[in-house]
Amino acid sequence: MTSASLVPAPVTARVPAKVNLELLVGPRLDDGYHALSTVFQAVSLYDDVTVAAAEEWGVSVHGPLAHGVPENADNLAMRAARLVDARFDVEPVHISIRKGIPVAGGMAGGSADAAATLVALDHLWELGLDREELEELASQLGSDVPFLVAGGTAVGSGRGELLAPVLARGTYHWVFALAEGGLPTPAVYAECDRLRGSTPVPDPVANPALMSALRSGDPHELAPQLANDLQDAALSLRPDLGEVLSAGMEYGALGGIVSGSGPTTAFLVEDNEAGIDLAVALTASGVVRDVRRASGPVHGAHVIHHRVD
Ligand code: ATP
Repeated sequence: MTSASLVPAPVTARVPAKVNLELLVGPRLDDGYHALSTVFQAVSLYDDVTVAAAEEWGVSVHGPLAHGVPENADNLAMRAARLVDARFDVEPVHISIRKGIPVAGGMAGGSADAAATLVALDHLWELGLDREELEELASQLGSDVPFLVAGGTAVGSGRGELLAPVLARGTYHWVFALAEGGLPTPAVYAECDRLRGSTPVPDPVANPALMSALRSGDPHELAPQLANDLQDAALSLRPDLGEVLSAGMEYGALGGIVSGSGPTTAFLVEDNEAGIDLAVALTASGVVRDVRRASGPVHGAHVIHHRVD
């Protein structure tokens, strides 16, 4: 940059977490991955990712949930930035991440930051990417990243990256119970394979009853359809989560499920008030580390702040 006036103002993109309403895991493929059929919903726990023109590439992570997130090239936000650079040869940026999404909790926080970085850099460097181009870049960064760009409620197939929107009415209220420590996603898939042994596994197909529950907008219809094929594996690695699931149901949740690969657990409740009651009861019970209330569906990664000097 030759003149300060040419330096663009920093751009902040806000990105939600996801919960899998259904996560069906198919047979293990030759490349080690699994064919998935999943129904994602974007929920109102957010990371804010700010990109600012800088002398050199860098990333910093802030907020009470920042612990353990890499501040180097391993950060998924940095990987997203380097992908944009490889494609469009842009100037370096410093990426600043404020984490509101639990880390290593099965809510795709790292993927969310990658999605937000793509959206923020598109804005900062005026790349003019359309939705298709953004989703193509996103799919190179991880199977959850395209959904975090899109948001809403969607079915993911392939490894989760092939998206189709779902007609979902209404707003759903959630309480998330945060657990101590994280569960590495690859370990949970490996445990799932181990538990299945040589039992034949069918190709995963989205459940029509879940789709019709989402069209009804009624959380009572949705609750019995929540399903997660990774739940047994997560519970096998973290038996304490069984106690959390039982406590949530006992204190009035309509449905409870391990979120993605865990260890966060997600409880669907009737309305906002029921969410407050459940959050208070779970906190008082002492079986959870912390709780967060959220609702969904919400929008995917979007610019919230673009300071014009
Ligand atoms: P998923 O649901 O996609 O399996 P997760 O929610 O379980 O993911 P993440 O929060 O994405 O897990 O973090 C998994 C690991 O990725 C962390 O332990 C951390 O080392 C690494 N990581 C890299 N970049 C980030 C980031 N920007 N935010 C959080 N974790 C990151």
